[in-house]
Amino acid sequence: MTVAEPYRLLREEMVEFQLAARGIRDERVLKAMREVPRERFVDLLYLSRAYDDSALPIGWGQTISQPYMVAVMTEALELKGDETVLEIGTGSGYQAAVLARLARRVFTIERIEPLAARARGLFEETGIRNVMVRSSDGTQGWPEEAPFDGIIVTAAAPAVPLPLVQQLAEGGRIVVPVGDLAFQELVIGRMEGGRLATRVSTGCVFVPLIGRFGWKEE
Ligand code: SAH
Repeated sequence: MTVAEPYRLLREEMVEFQLAARGIRDERVLKAMREVPRERFVDLLYLSRAYDDSALPIGWGQTISQPYMVAVMTEALELKGDETVLEIGTGSGYQAAVLARLARRVFTIERIEPLAARARGLFEETGIRNVMVRSSDGTQGWPEEAPFDGIIVTAAAPAVPLPLVQQLAEGGRIVVPVGDLAFQELVIGRMEGGRLATRVSTGCVFVPLIGRFGWKEE
């Protein structure tokens, strides 16, 4: 038995009891989350809780999202494999690592430079080569690489940031937690004929999206 073995078992349990049992159906999403080593993306202090059914602190007042929330948001993008995806809020890099297995290229933006640097290092260590990380205000998107087939915001926004809508390709999907600082609902949008058609999914709680088209910094 190798050292990595206990994590593989925990990972399989996580996928079965936290994801499949709660209605995550997309086989590609389940497979990706069966493979990405979440233990590499959590803070060492919380290593024993890497597969807990919860978000965990990653420093700088930020968190790695609950596995179920990662699965719900990823599934909403309906990725087939050849897409270009934008993520706002790299954090630990875990969500981007999952997306990297499901899309062709992933661009991810983190406003806290040390978190961006750490995620970059983790992608290198874990052999992920199709993720580009940049440190800037993600509410303004990444215009040089637009349009995107999928956009995922992993921080709480007061509204869907307009620049992100403008950078979404026709037929593309966007997922954003929208609400106040205490509670949000997942807004899932699809660009249809130049207009964004939206529906509201599950309730959730994310750390704030801070930037020009998000919450203002104090
Ligand atoms: N997807 C992450 C979750 C990170 S928590 C993961 O898998 O671990 C949300 C992150 O969004 C935090 O790291 C926070 O610093 C970042 N963030 C907040 N506002 C941002 C902005 N305007 N642009 C980019 N990142 C932002």
